[in-house]
Amino acid sequence: MKRLAVYCGSATPADARFIDAARAVGRHLAERGIGVVYGGGRLGLMGAVADAALEAGGEVIGVIPDALVSAEVAHRGCTQLHVVQTMHQRKQLFTDLSDGFVTLPGGVGTMDELWEAIGWSQLGYHGKPVGLLNVGGFYDQLIGFHGQMIEAGFIRPQHAGILIHADSIEALLAKMADYVPHQPIFAMKADRL
Ligand code: AMP
Repeated sequence: MKRLAVYCGSATPADARFIDAARAVGRHLAERGIGVVYGGGRLGLMGAVADAALEAGGEVIGVIPDALVSAEVAHRGCTQLHVVQTMHQRKQLFTDLSDGFVTLPGGVGTMDELWEAIGWSQLGYHGKPVGLLNVGGFYDQLIGFHGQMIEAGFIRPQHAGILIHADSIEALLAKMADYVPHQPIFAMKADRL
């Protein structure tokens, strides 16, 4: 994995542990020589990941739609900053430029990005590992709900392992490196769907 797309909140929560965790991830990726592809902002957890990776000498590629350049206060210190027209182009570039996805705590935008990465993997638009860093149990309920979707039969057994999660970035990257792509829906016959 040479580059990972990192999805996380654009906000700064009151609990400083979230920013600390984002900084630790940025630093860790840089120290392992893994480039960061992210939303290109300098606020919140997004900015914390980027700043820490840059401070540790890492590569940081931002991808931001022009409408969000001022709202998200584009990070001008990125190694590269791609300004695109639409959110669709942004998410396509996240996927094209990275070898996998890591989601940290965040809000609605972060959830959209995480579930799109899972959904596109199920279908077969990519075969890259999709990781969720469960910082301080923040995602316990999401992981539980994902399990409920599997149990109810809304997520097929072949796709139950697409969402990879761990409590530490070291453990998460180790699991992601071992990921073997699942059988995508595009490759399934109708009688198996
Ligand atoms: P958030 O987790 O809501 O702070 O958003 C994190 C990132 O997702 C930011 O780069 C936002 O531009 C992006 N984002 C925010 N809202 C949405 C949305 N509805 N759909 C897709 N991306 C979004």
